[in-house]
Amino acid sequence: MRRALIIGNWKMHKTVAQAVEYARGFAAGMTVMAGREVVIAPPFTALHALSAALKDTDVSLCAQDVHWEQEGAYTGEISAPMLLDAGCRYVLIGHSERRKWFGESNEDVNRKAKAALKAGLFPVVCVGETLDEREAEQTFSIIRRQLKEGLNNISADDIRRAIVAYEPVWAIGTGKTATPGQAEEVHDFIRQFIARIYGTDIAAGICILYGGSVNPDNAESLMTQKDIDGLLVGGASLDPESFRKIIHY
Ligand code: PEP
Repeated sequence: MRRALIIGNWKMHKTVAQAVEYARGFAAGMTVMAGREVVIAPPFTALHALSAALKDTDVSLCAQDVHWEQEGAYTGEISAPMLLDAGCRYVLIGHSERRKWFGESNEDVNRKAKAALKAGLFPVVCVGETLDEREAEQTFSIIRRQLKEGLNNISADDIRRAIVAYEPVWAIGTGKTATPGQAEEVHDFIRQFIARIYGTDIAAGICILYGGSVNPDNAESLMTQKDIDGLLVGGASLDPESFRKIIHY
């Protein structure tokens, strides 16, 4: 059975003190329903302190990006072994904001996913089409290409630990959510793509998240879709109350 994975992506928000205060109030005494897993993706600066604050809770940690080398002369970058050392279990890779503002390519995504897997992290590989691409009926060809190049040469053993997040770019931070039907159509396409390369058993076990203006009111209708296994939540995860409602959809 696939677990329901819910990740709160804080993006570039919260100081260390604000992050720890959130975590203490949010995670203390929270019981996560069986079969669900809750994860917070704070800025790099808060990872270490949050790892301590979330110790002995049901909430785990995710980084928002990673470099593909383990160490070296890459000023400003953070490697997968460093993330593991800071207490991370997951790492987001190829978020559309990284693709848009920092020019990340599918090839970068592939190198980062491999580095994360090698270090023992679970990579959350983000894919999604822009509004122009959707209107030009290119959604499936864009997603196919992002998956083909982003997951290129990842072994069957490794792919079992990978997570795919479908995040239509037009739905991120805009308040416009894909309808459950629109999202399910793409999730089904992603699972079929994985099945063609790795077989149906592996595809059936892959966790595919939806992200894009998820909130307490739409979480349940998304999560009841057959191929939606979890949520990647941006804005609505910044407030512990609204994130808690999403987790308990
Ligand atoms: C995201 O950051 O991945 C995201 C989906 O943001 P939001 O929920 O704010 O649209």
